[in-house]
Amino acid sequence: MDHDVIVIGGNFAGLSAAMQLARARRTVLVLDTNAPRNRFAATSHGFPGQDGQGPAELGAALRAELAAYPTVAFASEAAVAARREGGGFVVSLATGGGVAARRLVLAYGVRDTLPELPGLAERWGVSVLHCPYCHGYELDRQPVGVLARTEMAFHQAMLLPDWGPTTLFTQGAFVPTEDQRRALVSRGATVETTHVTSLIGPLPKLEAVRLTDGRTIPLSGLFVAPLTLPSSDLANQLGCAMRDGPTGPYLEVDAMQATTVPGVFAAGDLASPMPNATLATAAGVLAGGAAHRSLVFDRDLAAAA
Ligand SMILES: Cc1cc2nc3c(=O)[nH]c(=O)nc-3n(C[C@H](O)[C@H](O)[C@H](O)COP(=O)(O)OP(=O)(O)OC[C@H]3O[C@@H](n4cnc5c(N)ncnc54)[C@H](O)[C@@H]3O)c2cc1C
Repeated sequence: MDHDVIVIGGNFAGLSAAMQLARARRTVLVLDTNAPRNRFAATSHGFPGQDGQGPAELGAALRAELAAYPTVAFASEAAVAARREGGGFVVSLATGGGVAARRLVLAYGVRDTLPELPGLAERWGVSVLHCPYCHGYELDRQPVGVLARTEMAFHQAMLLPDWGPTTLFTQGAFVPTEDQRRALVSRGATVETTHVTSLIGPLPKLEAVRLTDGRTIPLSGLFVAPLTLPSSDLANQLGCAMRDGPTGPYLEVDAMQATTVPGVFAAGDLASPMPNATLATAAGVLAGGAAHRSLVFDRDLAAAA
């Protein structure tokens, strides 16, 4: 067997898992394509001790710490296939060839699909946002909007008045009930049923949205709930069970980040309905520890299948 563990995806979740394994002096290969989900943002917020760092700097710092451990190897490679073989797993690489390990940690994250509106994708991560805790503070209490896609828009529009005067654009996607309307009014939020047709302002900033009736509504930030899909099909190939989340499917894991397939662990956005760098990091710590325990206690993985 080439490695004790292969970690697929090398950012918050994957590098945190690898760190636990490295500290147990286990051999780990981290495969990563260097496209973390937050790469569109200039800064990352809320990560303890690193608030306001750039996503690239954060990733580089995590990798540099891990590189100090001699049992860790990195490869800038995409994993394209994974299968059980004997008491372990074989992972095929996009550049050809394969690598084998006793255990797998899946940490390859999710990819976002955004609503199709002129000027929206170009502002993603700067003035078109999904998480007020991550980037709402920087909007400095200026007017903000929520572009409805599903009923989650109600949840966002109820929270957002703490960050700035809020307009909920229902966009034909969500009709608030009378109770929900009353709740929104009690928070000072405005409900706008005329559709948004485009975003206005020098890229990547947002100054206003234009509505179908020609009106413009000044805004400094527009919040959307992206639809998400796992960044790769590997978990399906391995037979891991999925669950339905508010923005898309995510991997079913137990309290120690074990998937439904023995020997396969998962962490981060891929395996959680709550996307957040700190939570992904914590889940990665659990997954790394659990993979290590599995190497020690589940000696005969083939029999456990
Ligand atoms: C615009 C934006 C801004 C955000 N800002 C914040 C913020 O300020 N604070 C916060 O807490 N959270 C923020 N988030 C959420 C945060 O980005 C995620 O919760 C976090 O990145 C999840 O970490 P992860 O390790 O699970 O996945 P990721 O960080 O997405 O890392 C997955 C890694 O796997 C790699 N990969 C994918 N497929 C393969 C493959 N087949 N083979 C090998 N490697 C692969 C990718 O290239 C990537 O490097 C933001 C999200 C977005 C979209």
